[in-house]
Amino acid sequence: MTETRHTRALIIGSGPAGYTAAIYASRAMLEPVLVQGIEPGGQLTTTTEVENWPGDVEVQGPDLMLRMEAHAKAMGCDVATDIITDLDIDNRPFTAQSDSGTTYTADAVILATGARARWLGLPSEEAFKGFGVSACATCDGFFYRGEEIVVVGGGNTAVEEALFLTNFASKVTLIHRRDELRAEMILQDRLKKNPKIEPLWFHQLDEVLGDDNPKGVTGVRVRHVETGETHEIPCKGVFIAIGHAPANELVKDRLEMKEGGYVKVRPGSTETSVPGVFAAGDLTDDKYRQAVTSAGMGCMAALDAERFLATQDD
Ligand code: FAD
Ligand code: NAP
Repeated sequence: MTETRHTRALIIGSGPAGYTAAIYASRAMLEPVLVQGIEPGGQLTTTTEVENWPGDVEVQGPDLMLRMEAHAKAMGCDVATDIITDLDIDNRPFTAQSDSGTTYTADAVILATGARARWLGLPSEEAFKGFGVSACATCDGFFYRGEEIVVVGGGNTAVEEALFLTNFASKVTLIHRRDELRAEMILQDRLKKNPKIEPLWFHQLDEVLGDDNPKGVTGVRVRHVETGETHEIPCKGVFIAIGHAPANELVKDRLEMKEGGYVKVRPGSTETSVPGVFAAGDLTDDKYRQAVTSAGMGCMAALDAERFLATQDD
């Protein structure tokens, strides 16, 4: 169906940044439309326990995001199940084309498209994606009951995924290119105490090994980063957890960027290089990348948009 919808504030993305912007923009009577994208609720829907969201000692990521969605709707935000496929920010009102065929026009745009899992880029990783290679333990861990698994990475995600996978796997090997983890101390402590997890320091994943008929992973070949020596580890699942890259496809040629493809904003604000376009959350944050900081930036973006629109109305 093709239709055109106009809004004062178009919010693109439904993670903590997008929903918080929606709550503030609704309360500012901007009658925002929020487009959820391919992952309603964002990255937290791919995890289980969240232990650092203030006010909840422990909350399940997907539950928290459903609560945020309900909160945004209760404040009056129009939440659209749709994906923005193209965004024109060269002229105002801004115009966004969507997967459903709807054209959204907007006086202000809040970009909250977050980040997506990074991959190693190995041909064998690509070949076995969905057949034993995954970037989401919560989504796929269940398939590996009683099996051996490897996890690649050394940050919070890798350690959390390794811990979570011990609920299913008989053994989890954590492959990291250094002998020091980036993960928070509380997670490192849990890792050390878990008898099912064996860290493999100073190693890189060289190749995912597998069969074609039936298609599936049988192991990995790893390489010592200093000696170059290789060996194989038998496993049925390979979880890649080497960080996230900003989801900047809609604006990468149109806005000023920081190193790494993060959208550049004026310090202390969410203003991008185009007046009327604001950015919040993991899309612009190369430092903190937390749910609570994303939510904070979503609040800032809505307040910045409100002020911008007020100056346009004068
Ligand atoms: P995201 O959550 O990345 O959401 C981006 C949104 O943009 C999605 O809804 C997506 O559908 C939408 N989108 C993208 N492109 C388009 C498009 N073209 N059109 C429309 N919509 C689009 N942080 C914590 O503080 N505590 C934790 O315990 C924690 N655990 C984590 C566990 C895992 C496994 C991961 C991966 C991350 C975790 N994080 C945690 C980090 C946290 O999830 C992120 O910092 C936070 O989700 C970023 O929020 P965001 O709103 O910027 O974007
Ligand atoms: P990250 O912190 O950027 O860590 C990425 C890890 O992958 C690093 O250990 C890095 O190694 C390794 N790596 C990167 N590229 C690699 C490559 N090509 N080959 C091998 N290893 C590679 O990413 P993250 O763990 O996904 O976390 C992203 C953000 O989300 C962080 O801000 C994190 O705090 C947040 N998060 C928070 C929680 C929580 O609060 N509980 C949970 C999950 C995520 P080096 O260390 O050697 O660089």
